Amino acid sequence: MFLHACPERTEAERSESRRPLRPRPGPVEILRFGERYADVRDRRLADTLVVEDAAEENEELQALERTSCHVHRRWAHECVHSPVHVIVVTGHRWCRSCEAEASVAVDEVSGSVEVICTRCRRTPDTAATRQIIRTCRASLAAALESRRSHEVRHGSAA
Ligand SMILES: [Zn+2]
Ligand SMILES: [Zn+2]
Repeated sequence: MFLHACPERTEAERSESRRPLRPRPGPVEILRFGERYADVRDRRLADTLVVEDAAEENEELQALERTSCHVHRRWAHECVHSPVHVIVVTGHRWCRSCEAEASVAVDEVSGSVEVICTRCRRTPDTAATRQIIRTCRASLAAALESRRSHEVRHGSAA
């Protein structure tokens, strides 16, 4: 596979574990992963799904660090409510002291994301909770940006 050389990138940046992914997939990635998302109407979401699928396969991105969901083909914050996203072993959407599910409250206006145990009503203080908050905030921001650019492109005829 050919990768573009990027001479201006410093050694420090290269070794950074969480460098940002490219916003748009290359032709090889579209060929490999694009078909699954051909009917996704939000093109930025489709691009993100392809980029993250490719990054995950290349072991550049952990499944739980994704801002788009491979299972539901949605932004992370849109389907985090699904039972599929309760992972007892890792503590994702799970309160260990209660052994109960946690719910995620996403405020699309303020951009706030809260994880709250359905039993004790507290936020599980775990790396998994922080990861949910981080990824959902990022996906929320991306979705809002996508919506705004869509409005700019198509204008509001009304
Ligand atoms: Zn999902
Ligand atoms: Zn609890």
